[in-house]
Amino acid sequence: MMDEQLNTYLYETLLPKEDWVLEMEQQAKKDHVPIMDPVSMEFIMQLIRLHQPVNILEIGTAIGYSALRMLQANPDAAIITIEKDDTRYHQAVRNIERQQHSGQINVIHGDALDEISKLVETGTVFDLVLIDAAKGQYKRFFELAAPLLRGGGLVLSDNVLFRGHVADPASANPRHAKMVEKLRDYNKWMMEHTAFSSSIVPVGDGIAISIKTAERSTIR
Ligand code: SAH
Ligand code: MG
Repeated sequence: MMDEQLNTYLYETLLPKEDWVLEMEQQAKKDHVPIMDPVSMEFIMQLIRLHQPVNILEIGTAIGYSALRMLQANPDAAIITIEKDDTRYHQAVRNIERQQHSGQINVIHGDALDEISKLVETGTVFDLVLIDAAKGQYKRFFELAAPLLRGGGLVLSDNVLFRGHVADPASANPRHAKMVEKLRDYNKWMMEHTAFSSSIVPVGDGIAISIKTAERSTIR
């Protein structure tokens, strides 16, 4: 996506990370788990420091890397994160237990398309939703999660520029063509959504920031 030199430079500006962070990055690399790239992760952590979300919903836990790092950015957060893959769910639970954060990060094992609907029944209101799962289903995830978000809350969508191919579909491998088309549709739909103000940032694999319009008071 981004110029290689620019990305390398940004990567090099990052401060040294704790051993457990590096270990999780290595575990992900070894097992080919697509965790958020470190520069994007730092960007999301900065958004969390700015916005101070307490109740966070994450769609796509993988091994728990982004959940643990979001908690680093706001130690007062309570995170619900959903993962459908069996192996990754168990790895996430183990990694979160190891960091002694099971009290603050609740990993739900299931398909987010079912699990988000169940959360609606619990009446939980979220300050931030991170969408980082099957890219063909972003619109469904967004539609399901939007009612759970408070006015002024954020939806962050990762990978919305998918290696630059979203801006240049002809450059995509044919087996990615459908997903790239879906991401283009998603980005257009999200940018035009009248209940949200959105902005797409070309950091890492592309992150969209959507702010839910605050409920209007009667004062004008
Ligand atoms: N957020 C993680 C990376 C997530 S990778 C991090 O940065 O550390 C995407 C994950 O979403 C994969 O583990 C995949 O199994 C999961 N996933 C894909 N579709 C899903 C769905 N419908 N419900 C729940 N999890 C899903
Ligand atoms: Mg991602």
